[in-house]
Amino acid sequence: MHFPTFDNAFLRALPGDPEARVFPRQVQAALWSAVEPTPVAAPRLLAHSREMAAELGFSETDVASPEFAQVFSGNALLPGMQPFATNYGGHQFGHWAGQLGDGRAISLGEAVLDSGRRLELQLKGAGPTPYSRSADGRAVLRSSVREFLCSEAMYHLDIPTTRALSLVGTGEDVVRDMFYDGHPQAEPGAVVCRVAPSFLRFGHFELPAMRGDVELLRRLADFCVARDFPHLQGNGETLYADWFGEICERTARLAAEWMRVGFVHGVLNTDNMSILGLTIDYGPYGWVEDYDPDWTPNTTDVQGRRYRFGWQPRVAYWNLGQLARALSPLFEDKETLQSGLQRFADAYAEAERANTARKLGLAECRDGDVELIQDLHGLLHAHEVDMTLWFRALADTVPTPPSLQDFEHAFYDDAKRVAGEAAFADWLQRREARLQDDPLSAEVRSEVMRKANPKFVLRNWLAQQAIDRAYAGDMAGIGELLEVMRRPYDDQPGNQAFAAKRPDWAKVKAGCSMLSCSS
Ligand code: AMP
Ligand code: MG
Repeated sequence: MHFPTFDNAFLRALPGDPEARVFPRQVQAALWSAVEPTPVAAPRLLAHSREMAAELGFSETDVASPEFAQVFSGNALLPGMQPFATNYGGHQFGHWAGQLGDGRAISLGEAVLDSGRRLELQLKGAGPTPYSRSADGRAVLRSSVREFLCSEAMYHLDIPTTRALSLVGTGEDVVRDMFYDGHPQAEPGAVVCRVAPSFLRFGHFELPAMRGDVELLRRLADFCVARDFPHLQGNGETLYADWFGEICERTARLAAEWMRVGFVHGVLNTDNMSILGLTIDYGPYGWVEDYDPDWTPNTTDVQGRRYRFGWQPRVAYWNLGQLARALSPLFEDKETLQSGLQRFADAYAEAERANTARKLGLAECRDGDVELIQDLHGLLHAHEVDMTLWFRALADTVPTPPSLQDFEHAFYDDAKRVAGEAAFADWLQRREARLQDDPLSAEVRSEVMRKANPKFVLRNWLAQQAIDRAYAGDMAGIGELLEVMRRPYDDQPGNQAFAAKRPDWAKVKAGCSMLSCSS
């Protein structure tokens, strides 16, 4: 089997934990612990991303070989791999939670590709680490299917994300109490191999800062700038400022992208915030179906709804505030951090306006257009309308002026649809009037709108159907769904069933409406 070259810079440059035994503990003055994956009984490859495999240089023959499943379940290592788990902390639901760390993630190494690109390979669910606390270091198949599929779906939507190379069944059971109600059950286990240029999180910086270890904080910051932001090298005195500013901008653009497609992360704790502005840690995430800014997919979040759809930008900003606080010992002039945070606000406003223009099919977003889309959101909410279907329907009407019938299929409730007819007709007229003053040709408008308004998103119930089939022994649903999600902006007429609005049965079913953190 071909394998990439590894250059494990994180291990080489940063201090590791001298303790070699694996048991739960506080790890001080170190950013990682060496830890081997725990072997599993019967690894079997269930799905893989062919784009990711190809980029890493694995042929389809490599992927199909038994060795591939051995390596990406944690049973074997390729030459150059040096497994480790990293040490980080985080704010969970607004409160400092202390040391967390990679409790069930084990990085295998940093692959350096012929292109020069550096990609870290990381197994999720490969067994306990010093950061596992009281948990088992494993992952169940259902949550692994969700992480695998959504990573790739996001990538194909052109939204920054960690990637997924493979999904391997372990042949072992994992016990989980899915509803936290005292009914634990054995479920099949799985391991996902995630891929990203860097898995550094805000929490990696928060932990040394909270412990007052400024020396370690500085080493980590310098490493992160050098490895993950190489284009900033040579910026001299403004290096840290430029770095923090860029993190703020990337985070802003990411949050705006989530809002564009109706993705709700569900657990935006600071340990789940990527320093590169990638979507990371797919847990109880969800996709907005009937438009509702207050919706959270996470059952643990229903009380405060901190991680609701409409709050994601402000939560991202709050998280950046925590990062700023952590980094402040590195900044003599604290105003610099404030300016960085301002870059979030500016970049978010800019991205939101750009997305408004794209979603509505306009060459530019004027102040009145912000109001136009806000009014539309209000209508979609009040009349229980499927966000994805409605926007795609608007895109599909170009060049003909839309009529109410074009949107009928996007409504969940007939009475609410009828009640909204006048208001929607009025809104469509306002937009039609606005188009009179827009220079885009019908052809370009159609193109712009179709690329901003996906037809296919990983609806919760679609993922759940693939999971139900997998639990019944039929893995084919995972690959079928992946195929559809590879081309979310294409019409794919044969795959209409994957662009359907949520069926009634899915409204209350676990995994389709709400998800617990159990994974
Ligand atoms: P999450 O809510 O998935 O972001 O996880 C928060 C923390 O819990 C991280 O430190 C995870 O590594 C850890 N964790 C979650 N599930 C497990 C598990 N099954 N075994 C060990 N650690 C876990
Ligand atoms: Mg996490």
